[in-house]
Amino acid sequence: RSDDPLLKIEGLRSGYGRIEALHGVSLEVRPGEVVALVGGNGAGKTTLLRAISGVQPVTAGGVRFSGTDLTRASAHARVKAGIAQVPEGRQIFSPLSIEDNLRLGAYLRKDAEIAADLERVYDLFPVLKERRRNPAGGLSGGQQQMLAIGRAMMSRPKLLLLDEPSMGLAPVLVDQVFAIIARLREEEAVTVFLVEQNAFAALSIADRGYVIETGEIAMTGSGRELLTDERVREAYLGV
Ligand code: ATP
Repeated sequence: RSDDPLLKIEGLRSGYGRIEALHGVSLEVRPGEVVALVGGNGAGKTTLLRAISGVQPVTAGGVRFSGTDLTRASAHARVKAGIAQVPEGRQIFSPLSIEDNLRLGAYLRKDAEIAADLERVYDLFPVLKERRRNPAGGLSGGQQQMLAIGRAMMSRPKLLLLDEPSMGLAPVLVDQVFAIIARLREEEAVTVFLVEQNAFAALSIADRGYVIETGEIAMTGSGRELLTDERVREAYLGV
C-alpha cells in the first residue's frame, strides 16, 4: 500500500446558501484502503460525499485526487478521473433490466472489455446474473444495493464512494453488503470511502475511520481504535 493519498480533502467548506454545513474538513484516503466516515444525522456526511463527487459546490478548501486538483472539476470529469459514487437510496432504474442497469455504469467507456467486466460483476453477485433479464425494480433492497455497487464497478473506478450502504437493510443484509465491500478490497483492489450512520458495521471492516460532528472531523484512527474508543462507543455504538 502506497502512502501517497489517492484522495486528499483539505480545509473543505461547503453549505446551503448562508448555512455552512462543512466547516473546514480535512481527510485522506490512501490506495487500497477502506475508509469510513461515521457520524449522526445531519453531521454533514452526505454533503461531504457530494462535494467529492462534484455535485455540491465548495466555498473553500480543496479536493485532490491522484495528485490532480479537482476542486472546480465537473461531476462528469470526476467520473472520468476514476471516482464512482453509489448514491444514498441506490437510484437504480427500476423498469430497466438488471443488465441494462449495469451497462449504464460503463457509459463513459468505449473499450472492448465491458463484457469481461460484466462477467466479473456477475461473479461477485451471482444473484444478479440469474436475474439479469428481469426489471431491476423487482430486486430486494439488499440486491438493489448490490446492483448499485456493481453498476459503479462497471466504470472501473479507482475510488468507490458509498453513501449509507446499510440504509434500510435488515441486519443480515447489512452484514452481506459489508462482506462484499471487504471482498472488493481484497479481490479487486478497489479503494473505498464510505459514509455510514451504522458506525459499528462500517468501523468493523474499515482500515481507518473519521468521526464527523456538526461539520467538523472530531476524531480519527484505525477502525479498531475507533470501535474501542469510549467516546465513540457511547455516542455511536449505544454502549
Ligand atoms: P443524514 O445521515 O441525515 O443524511 P448527513 O450527515 O448526511 O445526515 P447532511 O445531509 O450532509 O448530513 O447535512 C448537513 C447539514 O446540512 C444539516 O444541518 C442539514 O440540515 C443541512 N442540509 C442538508 N441538505 C440541505 C439542503 N438541501 N438545504 C439546506 N440545508 C441542508
